[in-house]
Amino acid sequence: MTSIPDWTGTKATTCSWCGTDLATGQERPGRTECPECGSATTDPVPDPASLDRAYGDWYWPSSGNRFGRFGDFMLRRSRASAAKRISELAPPGSILDVGAGEGTLIDALGARGREASGLERLPSRDDIVDKTIFEVEGPYAAIVFWHSLEHVPDAGQVVAEAARKLIPGGFIFIAVPDLASRQARKFGDRWLHLDLPRHLVHLRSDALVAGLERCGFRVTEVSPVRGGQIVIGWLDGFVSGLPGGLNLYQALRRKSARRIRLSPSQRIGSIAAGVLLFPLALVCAAAEVRSGRSGTVYVEGQLRD
Ligand SMILES: [Zn+2]
Repeated sequence: MTSIPDWTGTKATTCSWCGTDLATGQERPGRTECPECGSATTDPVPDPASLDRAYGDWYWPSSGNRFGRFGDFMLRRSRASAAKRISELAPPGSILDVGAGEGTLIDALGARGREASGLERLPSRDDIVDKTIFEVEGPYAAIVFWHSLEHVPDAGQVVAEAARKLIPGGFIFIAVPDLASRQARKFGDRWLHLDLPRHLVHLRSDALVAGLERCGFRVTEVSPVRGGQIVIGWLDGFVSGLPGGLNLYQALRRKSARRIRLSPSQRIGSIAAGVLLFPLALVCAAAEVRSGRSGTVYVEGQLRD
């Protein structure tokens, strides 16, 4: 079973992060690596119909939350901790959450007295709108891309636009998978965080930092921990490498929020394997974090005056 799904679109010609011509880039299944910055651009670039199919109803089910009760609790906890940091660093003013999902981070910022709004496909509430960053007014005190920058077309131009929409001294907060991580190299085409074709760009942490500096940011923090989703990257990779069509990430989602159908025995098998392999995944994640570069990278940048 291939882990790369099929989709249609046009050939990627330039790196969606740094804009370099991809003619001499290394082609891999579903993506081409940039000869300049080493990040990969999803190739072909999926057409709108392919993206609609790829998100379908399962990614954001109309019934609300994506994960079981424990998963949703963890999601709220991680957003609360992100909101604390964001509200402490951002100067006074409103905060924009690009890729706001169900609005968990907006609520957590609101609980800290910060005015926040969001952008998302198929928004479910009034403070989230279906617009791109090019279509909103600003200015903002902070703009957040919490595991969303990898979903936008032309990520490099989007970050440049974010810089234009920030007040002087405003902050950008980005969490994305790190293509330079050990887990990305180990699992290759079946790495959880490749997530083709929904992820349109696959950034390396060094390219992310360099790009932010080009856009006028002073990078104040690079963390291999704060972006989260590191252990699950290892665990899902180990479980999906076992025979029997097991898939931990999908098994953890609610039935209505699964991309693929899992039989009851595949679901139980996936979770049982996940429990057994959890200690190993923890050890790998800890080693990865210690190396200073893990499955995800979190970066803070302050716009220079
Ligand atoms: Zn590039």
